[in-house]
Amino acid sequence: MRCSFVTHALFAAALFAVLPGRMAEAQQGNDTIRARDGTPIPVIPRAPGGMAEGAVWIPPMPPLEATLPPEGWEPVGYEQPPMPYILLRLPRTHITRAKFPAIDFHVHGRELTTPEAYESLIALMDSIGMGAIINLNGGTGTHLDSTLAVGEAYRDRVVNFVTLNLEGIDEAGWSEWMAGEMERGFLAGARGLKVSKSLGQGVRNPDGTFIQADDPRLDAVWAMAAKYDMPVMIHTSDSVGRFYPIGPLNERYEAGLWRYPGSTSGNLYASGPPREVIELARERMLAKHPRTRFVLGHMAMLYYDPGRLAALLDTYPNADLETSAAIQDLGRAPRLWREFFLKYQDRILFGTDGNQQRTIDDFWTPHWRFLETFDEHFYHPAQVRTHGGSPGHGRYNIYGIGLPDEVLRKIYFENALRHLPYMRDSIERQLAERGG
Ligand SMILES: [Zn+2]
Repeated sequence: MRCSFVTHALFAAALFAVLPGRMAEAQQGNDTIRARDGTPIPVIPRAPGGMAEGAVWIPPMPPLEATLPPEGWEPVGYEQPPMPYILLRLPRTHITRAKFPAIDFHVHGRELTTPEAYESLIALMDSIGMGAIINLNGGTGTHLDSTLAVGEAYRDRVVNFVTLNLEGIDEAGWSEWMAGEMERGFLAGARGLKVSKSLGQGVRNPDGTFIQADDPRLDAVWAMAAKYDMPVMIHTSDSVGRFYPIGPLNERYEAGLWRYPGSTSGNLYASGPPREVIELARERMLAKHPRTRFVLGHMAMLYYDPGRLAALLDTYPNADLETSAAIQDLGRAPRLWREFFLKYQDRILFGTDGNQQRTIDDFWTPHWRFLETFDEHFYHPAQVRTHGGSPGHGRYNIYGIGLPDEVLRKIYFENALRHLPYMRDSIERQLAERGG
């Protein structure tokens, strides 16, 4: 539907003048396209008035209300079609293992308490070219003890992290207890701390507010990591679609989430804190603890806003990024993200959020394909599958960013070795075995 020049100019002016809450109204008006049943179809916002032809701008995100479903709308249930076959004859790079021994900074090895579990994981790693992995599920207490005790024999391939345990944070002495568990773990062979997203959007204070990353009770935790110069792998915030209402216009619903009637699992629109609250608390934590090295999991969950992610890295030298569960989104804008990876090649660590149950063809190989090749329009690493078999992180295909070898080496292992210097011998031995 076209509108007159005057309407267009007014619309564009309105887009920048209105508050975010009113943007929905401004974006609709004459420019809204509707399907036959009246459902609005999202349209790309028009550039501000007066902008030169060919100039580039960054449209704002849709307001939260944009994905509110129509009155009376109900989810359709579990049924979700599988991904369609790609009906294109495109070149594919034959790739079965990582080009260099990669260090996967984000693996969940909950079962790593027996030698058999370690050995079968290492067999998988050998088959996909993985040099070493970080198990983020070391835990605390007796689980940590058994993981570290059994893991001692496999330290050249598997690194265990202590896991932050927020249970009892409201009780006196929690900070000292948690910092003590870290110290105990570090002295017994753990090499870092993992923090899950329950900090920020899961665990609440007695007054109902969510405990955030800048909570003073955590100061002793961040300080203990700095004392032993151990990295903190921290997952803060969430996929941006989870902050939007559940409805057919939400990418995450389209990918298969919340389809069971009544299911709101992991959706933060109605019951969670706004993402600004979580993200700003993280910034205050980074500012307050400049001597603590943080690795921000899942590209800091800012895969949707590369400008903001760049500003975060520029502002906080104590923050690095980790790639897990973000490739499905990065691979949608491969030229832009290739530039980003080249520019911040010293700040990005490889990670997958994988575990031993992930299969090679649909999980591990697409990671190598994304980073190493320029292959186009292929299935992304399916971390989660819906009942219908489609990837729950997005029903779309991705494109490779073909990093040069010297950058690939940094992303795959050099940057991780800065945080885990003791692993260098193992990686160098594996490099030598591969002939450099
Ligand atoms: Zn994870």
